[in-house]
Amino acid sequence: MKSKQNLKGKRVTVMGFARSGQAVARLLNRRGACVFVSDLNKTPILVQAQDRFIEIGIDSEIGRHSKLVYLNKDLIVLSPGIPCTIPILQEARARRVPIVSEIEIAYQMTNATVIGVTGTNGKSTTTALIGELLKRAGYETEVAGNIGYAASNVATDLSDKGYLITELSSFQLETIDQFRPHIAVLLNITPDHLDRYPSMKDYISAKTRIFKNQHRNDFAVFNADDPLVRKAASHTRAKQVAFSLDSASQNRIVTVEQNNLYLNDPQVSQMNHGKKTLICSIDELNLKGAHNLQNVIAALTVAHLLKTRVDVMRDTLTGKRGFKGLSHRLEYVATKNGVAYYNDSKATTVESTLAAINSFESVLLIVGGIDKGSDFSPLYDAVRKRVKELILIGKAKKKIFAALKGAAPLTFADDLEAAVDRISRKGIPGDIALLSPACASFDMFANFEDRGDCFRRVVHQLKD
Ligand code: ADP
Repeated sequence: MKSKQNLKGKRVTVMGFARSGQAVARLLNRRGACVFVSDLNKTPILVQAQDRFIEIGIDSEIGRHSKLVYLNKDLIVLSPGIPCTIPILQEARARRVPIVSEIEIAYQMTNATVIGVTGTNGKSTTTALIGELLKRAGYETEVAGNIGYAASNVATDLSDKGYLITELSSFQLETIDQFRPHIAVLLNITPDHLDRYPSMKDYISAKTRIFKNQHRNDFAVFNADDPLVRKAASHTRAKQVAFSLDSASQNRIVTVEQNNLYLNDPQVSQMNHGKKTLICSIDELNLKGAHNLQNVIAALTVAHLLKTRVDVMRDTLTGKRGFKGLSHRLEYVATKNGVAYYNDSKATTVESTLAAINSFESVLLIVGGIDKGSDFSPLYDAVRKRVKELILIGKAKKKIFAALKGAAPLTFADDLEAAVDRISRKGIPGDIALLSPACASFDMFANFEDRGDCFRRVVHQLKD
């Protein structure tokens, strides 16, 4: 049993007044805590939120983080986007005010069983897919994270029979305390956010914290094909459940053999005269690409641990009524003059862009934006093999040019409109046009959604 904190009458600061901050502030307020919210930004939306919160007795400051953040406070709760290294939090730490992430509060308040998903890439897709599988299996479920709601929004809507499936960034995991997922999934670890972490070691140890509080009867579901993940999972107390794309690997719940996905449960196969049970063929999957196959087998492994039937798995993964993936993740937009356009605006890391390029042949590729401290050279070989033309945009243009020159014909474009225009003139039927930037979007757009929406809009305006 988890020991829930009694927050009644406790003085709590919530850092960040966006979606998660607002959700956790309301939740704490309902539980009788005396809540104060602090946000560095001062936008008209936040001013409105401030007025609404005053009505329910929540005090706040916007446009700064003052000493009120820690003075006379029992606890500080961080929204996912706030680094725990900012100076005001260092001052708070020096005064021994505990600091926890929003997910910690959601965890302590929920009666549901918690499933946590982390990794450098594929978190949202895998979290959403697990949610879909469990919902179709008849479970009471809520999915929380970058997609949809903050965990604090939905944590108390679920009964003790329900499942709260949470997508977890390394930032959130840095400030967990008792957070203990019954099933923890670690998808992959590759360099990311190295602008924020002092070293790769620090980034790995943040991700590994997902297993930290697990008990012997919990499950650590991990990607055995990734050496860093394998090492991280070897330290857990939980039951280790590996998944792998390698057909030669033994003892896997889900196996990939030739072009098929099988369920390998000894109990089920006994009834089946020792045969594995076919889930579906890989061609039938709605989610395309080897990277998505990894997400699919991770999600199926979790679903099987919770006794989801094979026919439910098949229906969730295939066909018109199956799960089709999330917007901005290798999302098909339209075909114009025989060129199929894909929006992969969420690809803000080199690995996710590499995964996207490797999903196609004959690609006209748009890359660029704000560099997150990445090394772009791992893209070189895939670009040389599969990319017909590379179009560079945004602030990172020159750095990407230096890493990829010579790999494919290359041009610069001033903005996304100009990049799409170039593709529309160069593409021939059968080509793939792909926005997969390998960079953050903030130099030209509000966020990755804004960038993807702009791409879609421009593509839809192209003449057929
Ligand atoms: P996250 O929530 O971890 O950012 P998403 O599911 O939102 O992951 O996908 C982000 C980007 O990474 C998309 O461009 C997607 O196509 C790509 N991607 C998804 N899964 C993987 C994976 N397992 N390995 C590499 N790239 C991936």
